[in-house]
Amino acid sequence: MSAARKTIVIRNGNLIDSSGAPTFRNDAIVVEGNRIKSVGALPADIHLEDRKAVEVIDATGQWIMPGLIDAHCHVSYGYPLIKGEGKGKGTTRPEFSTLKSARSVQKVLRSGVTSIAVPGGTWFTDVGVRDAIKLGLMEGPRMYVAGRMIISYGCIEDDDPSWEGTPDHSIGKLCNTADEMVTEVRRQGKHGVNFIKMADSRSGESQMLARHEMEAVVGEAHRRNLRVAIHSRGAGSTRAAAEAGVDWIVHADLATDRDLEAVAKAGIPILPTATFLSVVIDMGNRLGPENVQIDHSRMKRHFEALGHIMHKSRELGIKLLVGTDTGNNSFTPYGELHAKELEIFVKHGGFSPMEAIVAATKNNAFAVGLEGQVGQILPGQLADIIILNKDPIADITVLQGGKNLTWVIKDGKIIDLDPRDDLLQFQQAAE
Ligand SMILES: [Zn+2]
Repeated sequence: MSAARKTIVIRNGNLIDSSGAPTFRNDAIVVEGNRIKSVGALPADIHLEDRKAVEVIDATGQWIMPGLIDAHCHVSYGYPLIKGEGKGKGTTRPEFSTLKSARSVQKVLRSGVTSIAVPGGTWFTDVGVRDAIKLGLMEGPRMYVAGRMIISYGCIEDDDPSWEGTPDHSIGKLCNTADEMVTEVRRQGKHGVNFIKMADSRSGESQMLARHEMEAVVGEAHRRNLRVAIHSRGAGSTRAAAEAGVDWIVHADLATDRDLEAVAKAGIPILPTATFLSVVIDMGNRLGPENVQIDHSRMKRHFEALGHIMHKSRELGIKLLVGTDTGNNSFTPYGELHAKELEIFVKHGGFSPMEAIVAATKNNAFAVGLEGQVGQILPGQLADIIILNKDPIADITVLQGGKNLTWVIKDGKIIDLDPRDDLLQFQQAAE
């Protein structure tokens, strides 16, 4: 924001540039304004002793890589629940939700996540938070946001009886005809979303949205320069969505190999989001499955199915996006899980640690509409850079929770990491 921002020079360290090349020794990364100006030998016109103009970061013995991108993070579902906050339907409201979201994204950023895609939220909270960050009112990750999910009767998020419909505070928006869906696309576009989120059945048991409805949404959205993502766990819905021209598919757990072939043919990525399932499974193992609010054994089956989807997708050349569903529940806290999906890609998806990092940075730029602009440490890229005191190639889990971060640079600006310890701790309510 200030005109006289210092040039940042990162000296030494081990560079993971996310091009896919192996880690190499860094001499100097030069950041000017919000972009990376050069990578390699220190340019002759940079004078490190001019501390008024140059900020030098010495990364000796550390690892430098692009900021992580979480392609699936909700920030306005109402979590964490804060002690003393009114609970229950009808007590949520946009004003409080927006302030809470503004705090939550601070935790996201300080865990090394410099961009998020937000596939669904309440009101236009996410649009507001995105713009406040973009316009410099506050710090936060880059945000690429959808609005309420377009659903029909019986889809995920249609939780109230038909005579109630979806209330204003719901994250779903009932639209039972293609015409109603098109109207909702127009309404959301008018209010500034980046993409439309459609959602089929909760767990893929049957296809709820007709293909012609998906086509209507895609046609209207694309004409208005909005992209379309769909929550689809089922086989039929996944295939129909691919054929209808959606831009990416979230989950796809139950897709058959033939459905995946349709996805490959459409040339679109899948965002498996195994982290959420893995968290539920861990909880079941710890607390006993009967104490977990979500069907533990079904989650286990879906998790195993996703392992197959990951392997088969790689075989078919389907790109996999990396996202976690952070913020969709009280047990998916901000700042903790954003790099968990990389561990799952390595342990269950056949990825090497380097491939997982490339997926969560360079490839994930697609999910925030910035492909080729962010996610690599190359001249000309947006300057989103993190530095760690442990090697993520040796152990992919060191990326989790921001514990090993020494620096976070977002949009060419150094982020103060200190508040992660005190300022950002709001007291969570016992549920
Ligand atoms: Zn989600």
